[in-house]
Amino acid sequence: MTNRTFAIIKPDAVKNNYVGNIYNHILEEGFTILSAKLIKMSKYQAEQFYLIHKDRPFYDELTSFMSSGRCMVLALEKDNAVENWRTVIGATNPDDANDGTIRKLYASSLGENAVHGSDSNENALKEISFFFSYSELI
Ligand code: UDP
Ligand code: MG
Repeated sequence: MTNRTFAIIKPDAVKNNYVGNIYNHILEEGFTILSAKLIKMSKYQAEQFYLIHKDRPFYDELTSFMSSGRCMVLALEKDNAVENWRTVIGATNPDDANDGTIRKLYASSLGENAVHGSDSNENALKEISFFFSYSELI
């Protein structure tokens, strides 16, 4: 179970038609997509998902943005998936992200930064189960 991570293609990237490009990165990097679905979060759902950031100054802006449009949520599998996916997506701020990373290529700004990636194995499992039931992970 520790070889799983959770990803979101955020509303900016869906709106800008980067879903296909980002899928290619996922597959070319050797991740198996266990499940994927297009969703639109409510403000409340976004607030629950990002509860860890509730005292941060960007919490309201972040949860408004994440509930502003359609997202693609994905459960991914690969050896060392959490660390690997974080490397593939790049730094939180696209200005700091390495060349070739998803955020460098497709992010609009620090807040609207194209993708999410879990930061630990423990959070990956929590985040996957926030959006997917066991039977949806194929
Ligand atoms: N974020 C923001 N302003 C900041 C830091 C973060 O708007 O100063 C947003 C950004 O969309 C980021 C999300 O909040 O992806 C979660 O922040 P975190 O520090 O967990 O970054 P991540 O793990 O996504 O790289
Ligand atoms: Mg984070």
